[in-house]
Amino acid sequence: MNFLPLIESKRDGQPLTVAQIGEFVSGVVSGDLPDYQVAAFLMAVFFRGLNSAETTALTLAMRDSGDVLKFPKDKRPLVDKHSTGGVGDKVSLPLAPLLACLGFRVPMISGRGLGITGGTLDKLDSIPGFQTLLPARRITQIVQEVGCVICGQTDRMVPADKKLYALRDVTGTVPSIPLITASILSKKLAESLAALVLDVKFGRAAFIPTRAQARKLARAMVALGGQCGVNTRAVLTDMNSPLGRAAGNWLEVKESVAVLTAPAGGADLRELVLTFAAHLLVQTGRVKSLAAAQRQAEVCLLSGEPRKKWDAMLIAQGADLAAFNRKLECDHTAPVVLELRANRGGFVSRCDARRLGEVIRDLGGGRLTQASSINFEVGLDGIVKPGEAVKPGEPLVRIHAASRAQAEAARARLEGAFTISLRRPKSPPLIGEVIQGNK
Ligand code: URA
Repeated sequence: MNFLPLIESKRDGQPLTVAQIGEFVSGVVSGDLPDYQVAAFLMAVFFRGLNSAETTALTLAMRDSGDVLKFPKDKRPLVDKHSTGGVGDKVSLPLAPLLACLGFRVPMISGRGLGITGGTLDKLDSIPGFQTLLPARRITQIVQEVGCVICGQTDRMVPADKKLYALRDVTGTVPSIPLITASILSKKLAESLAALVLDVKFGRAAFIPTRAQARKLARAMVALGGQCGVNTRAVLTDMNSPLGRAAGNWLEVKESVAVLTAPAGGADLRELVLTFAAHLLVQTGRVKSLAAAQRQAEVCLLSGEPRKKWDAMLIAQGADLAAFNRKLECDHTAPVVLELRANRGGFVSRCDARRLGEVIRDLGGGRLTQASSINFEVGLDGIVKPGEAVKPGEPLVRIHAASRAQAEAARARLEGAFTISLRRPKSPPLIGEVIQGNK
């Protein structure tokens, strides 16, 4: 097969047919298409874009490049949430069991972190014995029996994305809206969902810095999800400050369990968990208004059932529950803990999520490359958030590190991450806007 005419067509801005895009994706997966031609095609798309029909064709061809999860008929709708990622973003952890208790099935296929944004699978790997790599049959079995699973993509799911993403990463073609849309949605469509809610983050620690760009991506994903038969909504959320009070793999699991156990954990984290659950209740027609859905989600969360569901999910995925509960009791599991204290009194007016993310990554809690290994125990907790008051000498954040030298270096860098003002600042809303189909 000669792929050059296809690359030339895209280079010249001519629309591609569904058949041409299908051939391209097959060529990528089979290896018939050499990397240099795939890279040339990706660069052509980066500059020329894809129209909506081309993006749909690419997404569906990518979804169909491997296994699609198949579930038996059941009155519980299949739903999921996807986040574009941020610092302290652990929403998926409490959300999956909450959704299962609200009567959904949740096949949450998640990813690993790269750079400053954490990955759900890395957080779960900090739980003793927990298995994130499961065969497709076991994924569907746990979803049917427990109601939720959080695991990685199998080797046989969406192999086209694995190859394309690796090449995008090294050719500077990641920030292309049609390519991001196809990459994210092909994986979500392989879960056979009825409804999907997207958390599209904007701000200093998001991979999309501005709200305008986040809106553009959200609109593209919502439109495409709808065209592919999945009721899709997007919520634009602020990622200038970290989410919740903890960031770092194990510390985020701990905060997630606190949200499931009592009205504890960061208020912003709870707000997002309840908001996404409420949207999915409305999207699937289970509840009419968002306000009523939010109340239903809150009552469910406070009932304690989602915490029991979390334990059931852990057991189904191989965790050692006794060891997990013992680990939860520990104040810290990293060898060294230091505090950064406020040098004056006032109100925190800035807590720079980007700086916090960089510090955690450099403490060993994140990856610089896909191959880097991770220290699950390091990170930050007790983070004082914008709008909150501090007295001189009170802690702004606790640093969990592998050594004293690393903790002290982190503390020096974190000094510049906080600003304390005399007046209480006006905090920007956490939720920017909601993008629904046809809007
Ligand atoms: N996340 C993905 O899965 N794919 C992208 O292209 C960007 C973010």
